Amino acid sequence: MAHDLSSTRATTTGCVKYAGLFQDPMLEDQLPHSASSDERRRYASLEHAAADICASCPLLSPCLYRAVVEHDVAGFVAGTTQKQRLEIRARLSVKVEAEDLDTLAGVARQHRQVDHSEVVRLRSVHPDESLEQLARRLGCSLSTVKRHLRTERRSPGARAFGDQQLPTQCQVLAAHAQLNGRRAVREDAAA
Ligand code: SF4
Repeated sequence: MAHDLSSTRATTTGCVKYAGLFQDPMLEDQLPHSASSDERRRYASLEHAAADICASCPLLSPCLYRAVVEHDVAGFVAGTTQKQRLEIRARLSVKVEAEDLDTLAGVARQHRQVDHSEVVRLRSVHPDESLEQLARRLGCSLSTVKRHLRTERRSPGARAFGDQQLPTQCQVLAAHAQLNGRRAVREDAAA
């Protein structure tokens, strides 16, 4: 199931407006077990601030779907940490390939997101163009074009993330809500 965000691409999302927060090195990585209490407090503060922003974002549902089902990126995306997205994928039996950070570009970065079939179709229509030209035509990065074409060579006709049975957006949202519910119970117990 592909999500076309083209109609909302012009929206300035919270992660763009507050890029300094979302790209804070601490939020980009998981907190190490050895983190001090000061670091844990700062991490929690950053995470809560980013979660509040995502919670009021009109793109939250499609953004979460893409971050869980279509792309494996680091950092805080759609109200979730990378670890939380791993938990949601495990719950829904979803597998995605690790990618470079610009794959969520249509939502949070300067490049736009492209569909696998769009890359393959344009390659067949313009076989004499270089991959750089194709990337410019698609408005994405060269690495994204190469990744899609590699996937197509390995498994012609397959989606970038394989032929698995994909969950619906509702199932992803439900898994996210369950995860948040479990977390709230843990936080209440710890308070
Ligand atoms: S939900 Fe997605 S697009 Fe919206 S602010 Fe969060 S990361 Fe950005």
